[in-house]
Amino acid sequence: MQRVLVRTYGCQMNVHDTEKVENLLLHHGWTLAEDLDCAEFLVINTCSIREKAEHSLYSDLGRLREWKQAQPGRVLAVGGCVAQQVGDALLRRFPQVDFVFGTHNVRWVSAMAEAARAGQRQARVEETASLERFDLPERHPDFVGATPGRAFVTVMEGCDMFCSFCIVPRTRGREISRPADAILAEARQLASGGVCEVTLLGQTVNAYGRHDRRRAETRRAHGAAAEDDPGTIDFATLLGRLADIPGLARIRYTSPHPLFVDDALIRAHGEIEALCPHVHLPVQSGSDVVLERMRRRYTHVDYLRTADRLRAARPGLVLTSDVIVGFPGETDADFQATLALVRAAGFVDSFSFKYSPRPGTAAAELPDAVPPEVAQARLEELQALQSQQTLDYHRSRVGEEVAVLVSGESRRGGGQHAGRDQAHRVVNFEAPQTVAIEPGDFARVRIVEATPHSLIGTLADPPAGVRTSLKPSRGATDRGIRIQGIPG
Ligand code: SF4
Repeated sequence: MQRVLVRTYGCQMNVHDTEKVENLLLHHGWTLAEDLDCAEFLVINTCSIREKAEHSLYSDLGRLREWKQAQPGRVLAVGGCVAQQVGDALLRRFPQVDFVFGTHNVRWVSAMAEAARAGQRQARVEETASLERFDLPERHPDFVGATPGRAFVTVMEGCDMFCSFCIVPRTRGREISRPADAILAEARQLASGGVCEVTLLGQTVNAYGRHDRRRAETRRAHGAAAEDDPGTIDFATLLGRLADIPGLARIRYTSPHPLFVDDALIRAHGEIEALCPHVHLPVQSGSDVVLERMRRRYTHVDYLRTADRLRAARPGLVLTSDVIVGFPGETDADFQATLALVRAAGFVDSFSFKYSPRPGTAAAELPDAVPPEVAQARLEELQALQSQQTLDYHRSRVGEEVAVLVSGESRRGGGQHAGRDQAHRVVNFEAPQTVAIEPGDFARVRIVEATPHSLIGTLADPPAGVRTSLKPSRGATDRGIRIQGIPG
């Protein structure tokens, strides 16, 4: 039996790439290893969005020399964003690495593993503008997602926005959208296998199909036939078609760019019940001067207007965001503007980071670096504000009854269950032992308490001895993935 372990760093896009690698390898006769000791093949799926993640890879690789030597025939591969950027230099620097595959080359992993076993060391990091990169097999019967009942679906990849701080356009390549038919077919297959919540993924997910539609309009203006159309539709229409799939109770998407939140998407939030009332809308800064230097293409007023329109379309909609502090040239007044925006937008949660220069980006050349101790103090002040806002929001939810999609046991222990509500808040809850609750089930929970990190509840009026499950249950796994938002 050949066993593979995939280690994941970075965002949801990487988590989903890991799932694609695992699923592909299951189709080629591999099984998934429980831990490193029992694996013959290790894939490290890397992230280069921040310096820290890249350094973790290099120290991991140093430690893995011993693992490689402990058993002949073991294979070590590196994929993801660092692999895309560094390419075959990884092979030269780390003799223990057998092969390197870039973000457009996931489909070759099985063949490359076989070649590695035959002694061939190689790097495949070529970019492709072809839709073939989306050609991956359906879910294998033995594939168990990290979160039962939930699944990611890629709708587009790459980014053409070139924000000055971001390495993604260089690691993921240019924007490309999957044809809608392929997305809908995958979603139908997932729903028929018990998935009730899908999260649509893309670096600028709500820019879905924009280039194809523009090119098709140009071609039609020049008399081209409709059959040349690549098959994309606008993002809001795609959401509507997904909502028609029986069994899909929840639809999410990440990460949208504020620039592409158009009227149709705002309307969709008001009209599509299955579209969850949560939008993770990265803002990055509240200062117009900084936003311009970041090349974000909106002002703080534009952003707040979009936030208000989303909330007006779907009352109770929760906004979360990404914020960078200590961007080059950020003054105290700029930072105060960020704090003011976080308050005005009423973020329920946010991922916040100190700016870290990435080689090859425009911002890496900017003068006026913010001293590290100033950036650290700003980060702490921002996070303290956010924690208070999160707690205030959670307190406002006490007394509600919510539907929770169960993910497994609560980290709080004590036999509690954990899951997410429609607004993507973590809910930990207790249930009588007579009620069987498994990952992938829906449970109705009454919220009784709020903490800064989660809502606490109890199962609402469970009928004694009766399962609350609305969905077929699936086995739970926790592969210890470290997740952050997709840069957007
Ligand atoms: S931050 Fe988002 S929109 Fe900007 S370049 Fe990176 S992935 Fe693209």
